[in-house]
Amino acid sequence: MTGEPDGPEDRLRRFATIWSRAVFPITSTSLTRPELEQQLLPLARRLSDALKARTFDAAAGQAVGAALVAAHCTDPEALSRSLDCVDAYLVLYCGEDGPQEALRTRSARLQHAMAAGFAGALRERTLAEQEAIYQAALNARSTVAEALHASEARFRAVFEGAAIGIGIADLEGNILQVNGALLRMFGGSEQGVRGRKVPEWTHPEDAPQVWRLYEELVRGEREHYHVEKAFYRPDGTALWTNLTVSLLRDADGRPQYQLALMEDTTERRLLNLRLRYEATHDALTGLPNRTLFFERLEKAVSAGNDQRFGLCYLDLDGFKTINDSLGHAAGDRLLVEVADRLQSCATAPGEMVARLGGDEFVALTTGPDTEREVDALADRIMNALVTPVRIDGRELTVRGSIGIVEGPAGERGPAEVLRSADITMYRAKSAGGNRFELADPEADARAITRHGLTTALPAALDRGEFFIEYQPLVHLGDGSVHGAEALVRWLHPQHGVLGPDRFIPLAEHTGLIVPLGRWVLEQSVRQARQWQERHADSGPLRINVNLSPCQLTHPGLVQDTVDILEREGLDAEALCLEVTESALIGADDDLLKPLRRLAEMGVDIALDDFGTGYSNLANLRRLPVSILKLDRSFTQGMQQFPADPVDLKIVEGIVSLAHSLDLAVTVEGVETGAQAEQLRILGCDTAQGWYYARPGPPERLHELALVDATG
Ligand code: C2E
Ligand code: CA
Ligand code: CA
Repeated sequence: MTGEPDGPEDRLRRFATIWSRAVFPITSTSLTRPELEQQLLPLARRLSDALKARTFDAAAGQAVGAALVAAHCTDPEALSRSLDCVDAYLVLYCGEDGPQEALRTRSARLQHAMAAGFAGALRERTLAEQEAIYQAALNARSTVAEALHASEARFRAVFEGAAIGIGIADLEGNILQVNGALLRMFGGSEQGVRGRKVPEWTHPEDAPQVWRLYEELVRGEREHYHVEKAFYRPDGTALWTNLTVSLLRDADGRPQYQLALMEDTTERRLLNLRLRYEATHDALTGLPNRTLFFERLEKAVSAGNDQRFGLCYLDLDGFKTINDSLGHAAGDRLLVEVADRLQSCATAPGEMVARLGGDEFVALTTGPDTEREVDALADRIMNALVTPVRIDGRELTVRGSIGIVEGPAGERGPAEVLRSADITMYRAKSAGGNRFELADPEADARAITRHGLTTALPAALDRGEFFIEYQPLVHLGDGSVHGAEALVRWLHPQHGVLGPDRFIPLAEHTGLIVPLGRWVLEQSVRQARQWQERHADSGPLRINVNLSPCQLTHPGLVQDTVDILEREGLDAEALCLEVTESALIGADDDLLKPLRRLAEMGVDIALDDFGTGYSNLANLRRLPVSILKLDRSFTQGMQQFPADPVDLKIVEGIVSLAHSLDLAVTVEGVETGAQAEQLRILGCDTAQGWYYARPGPPERLHELALVDATG
């Protein structure tokens, strides 16, 4: 060990090593373990590339699954171990820089694709094998026929030595001979097999042609047939086989015996069923996933006359906050609980619930009467969410926004329906959340889909469609301007100005937030420097810039910030980075290290939206923050007069705690003079809000500052 950190290539290799160790014991190759590792390395690289690709494509997973089969890792256990390995190590070893939540989603999708690719390749191989067995049957038939006529000893050798099951019966179906392989398939008891005549070996899953082909064969009208057939073993379990039956004629060509060759496919079948299940269900909640839901929706929207469908598209409100502040494990448990509750809302025939990913769920109802039913379904879902969820001794309130689409089958495709539901859900969210809305075709036409915005984001940054507005921060003591917060906007060519709530989450999801955030920082720092140059008289104005959680984990954060400050010539003391409370709660030292470095250089760190997470006040001491920004919700409680006494007490408590920890307190969302006065009395240091100014262009700030300075 040199103590040098591993490079990405070393980590990739280590991942391949672990993978090869996991599957080597169950492969049927003649390779050594290091040789297998050598084969897995390019597969690991494909997965790693797909994980980090700018636009995600699950096809890589499919190719890797197929490659496993090609590498003779055909045992179901080899797939299962490979999936475990990818699940546990891919993000860990290959996704060090990315947003972990997004990477984990990608990893899960890659695993599903691997399972599907594996199943597909296995199916193709089976077809090839069937062809080989058929050829073997033809050969065996002549060999056995010869043997019957010639030497009993030679016949025995062929018969007993065969790896596939062989049985011989007369044309009435009396079983005359079975070999060891066949006996083993049926559980080993000769009595159990020979006790029954061939026509008695029926199974409920027999395809209709199975017995017709049999009759044709024993009548001498057919030389052989090939089917997939199940049998009951004597113990009642099912044996699935690839069955080839051939007619044996005597020396004069008269039908004499029937010869059955069978290959046991039970395991493979189970694997295929399991793979199908895994490819269509969500691993976390066990609910049907997007794939299966889409299949069902497709059926529902193309059902026959008089059939209708109703769809509820649910997105949890504020799930990200819970996930960020309590951790992924708690977030996952919440999702599982929500999934269980949803499931119990849609139990009637024709109803289903699925998880589309993240905190998005859908419930579908079908039939002639969905106009009424879909409202009832949405009601049941809202009610199911009312009871708080207990996790780690905390009671979490779960709320959700639902978009409802209802209509007759045969008019729209599934993608269009889902899009409309998504837009409607978004409308419910914009109206404050915790409600449902009905789809409205006109609103749909105007609406902006998240998908459309997401794909347009990268080009928007290159084309310079973003701009920044500045909202002043004011000293509550004397009303002087203290600085400004930079708030980014997107001037979208079709939709006009979009607020950050519309696109920041999408930028976080796709990773664009890192270059976008860097751009905002650069612009804002340059702006602050200009203010200082042009208006030295109005005191050193400070600039506040928001940081996303993804930027916090990005390794370039400290260096980028230092570079920008130096290049633009701004003192570190004039910059304040705002980090949301939820991003820091439960943060470990690694996450805090870059912030600590910045704080040591003199950059202020503000804890944004304070009071909305689930933080422990005692924890504040650990964090490298110097400012608390009290969330708007506290200020709202003071809008009426007299203010809510409980809110006042809470704010008073927070302010005195903050001051005792040497933290300054900023309040957001101050809309009236009464609020400002109240907050000043409570001891808050600075304030921000419409009462002073709405966010606006940079020139507006010094107008305000000059007004203060002069009057
Ligand atoms: P925030 O940091 O809490 O920003 C304050 C938000 O409150 C702004 O919304 C602002 O316009 C709004 N606001 C200000 N005064 C009042 C008031 O008196 N009453 C009311 N009702 N609202 C007021 P905006 O601009 O829509 O920003 C929303 C959020 O987007 C911000 O919340 C911040 O978290 C995020 N954001 C904005 N710019 C950036 C950025 O450059 N990077 C990152 N990562 N996030 C950003
Ligand atoms: Ca902020
Ligand atoms: Ca805030």
